[in-house]
Amino acid sequence: MDVTYYVCGKCGRTMQPDDNDKEFWIIAQRLGKPEGHLIIRCPEHTTDYARRLAGLKQQYYHQQDSRIFKSSELDASATGWIANLSAGTVNNPDCYFHFTLKREATDFLRMVDEGMSTDEASYHAAGWKAEQ
Ligand SMILES: [Zn+2]
Repeated sequence: MDVTYYVCGKCGRTMQPDDNDKEFWIIAQRLGKPEGHLIIRCPEHTTDYARRLAGLKQQYYHQQDSRIFKSSELDASATGWIANLSAGTVNNPDCYFHFTLKREATDFLRMVDEGMSTDEASYHAAGWKAEQ
């Protein structure tokens, strides 16, 4: 029986069948290479460069995590980003976490997904500001 393993080309992490972030891996034919030359990146290493090698559009990734949206979508005068941890299909403003940068919101969700508490994750995600 053939078993195919996907291994991140950067860190060597192997995709496991029960990974809950499988949809965020890049597994794609490498542009300009013979058929079967794949580019494989775990969610930690889906860099812009890797996306270009895979011939994928930036925008696809910018919309990847539907839990992140611009604060201005709620309030036109607001700035920054919101990470939305509402469960199910009902949006609960109590579950909105505000960040200045999209990168912070992304980091926050990654840490929460990995099991960190929201308090601690928001501290780490925006920690560089709290120091000041
Ligand atoms: Zn990796």
